[in-house]
Amino acid sequence: MRYAILSDIHANLEAFTAVLNDLSKRGIDSIWCLGDIVDYGPDPCGCLYLLRRQKYVAVPGNHDLAAIGVIDTADFVPDAVESNRWTREQLQASHIEFLSSLPSVIEEEDFTLVHASPRDPIWEYLNSADRARENLPYFKSPFCLFGHTHRPVIFRCLKNGSCVTADFSEEADFSLEGGRLFLNPGSVGQPRDGDPRASYAVYDSETKTIRLCRVPYDVAATQSKMLKNKLPPGLILRLSYGL
Ligand code: ZN
Repeated sequence: MRYAILSDIHANLEAFTAVLNDLSKRGIDSIWCLGDIVDYGPDPCGCLYLLRRQKYVAVPGNHDLAAIGVIDTADFVPDAVESNRWTREQLQASHIEFLSSLPSVIEEEDFTLVHASPRDPIWEYLNSADRARENLPYFKSPFCLFGHTHRPVIFRCLKNGSCVTADFSEEADFSLEGGRLFLNPGSVGQPRDGDPRASYAVYDSETKTIRLCRVPYDVAATQSKMLKNKLPPGLILRLSYGL
């Protein structure tokens, strides 16, 4: 079986569509979605519709929960507060019902799926090998899949209890042999690693490998929709640079 690991779609329909087209070429059986399906981008309803037409499981992200009023936006930066308010206005009752039904932690095969971290599935930024080590007691499966930082990364945990950052190169098969690990596939709709292409990963359960995939999409089309909907200029510009 081959699974696509997608995170942080962020209402970017052009990026999400480009990734789905890429998935059909690669023969994917199912999608594991790590949350932040909506907010920032101009197509929250379109992305929810498209996701729900796939074979998938999904956890919610902080932006999804803020958009349906489950958490407040007090800790959001001003641009995110503004886009979240706009997103909330777009959602209908069926979207709210769907997002509120998602479980914050899912276990699939050898993986625990969360948006942020096993210790705090909604908020914590798992952005260092030390943070990964601290999170080891908070899940039982060999591997953890997470998003939230919008940067692709793998933290590998060693027998001595420490964790290190491993090389996670595009289109290279990363073997899951050799201990527990944390893996972030990057962001579909708002990458922040300096590469504006949509980012996701593919897990092959036969070869026990994971591969990082990058897909170009029509950034200008997304930006012009954001402009039309008066979404914050900073959110529009950053898509050009992947930052
Ligand atoms: Zn996000």
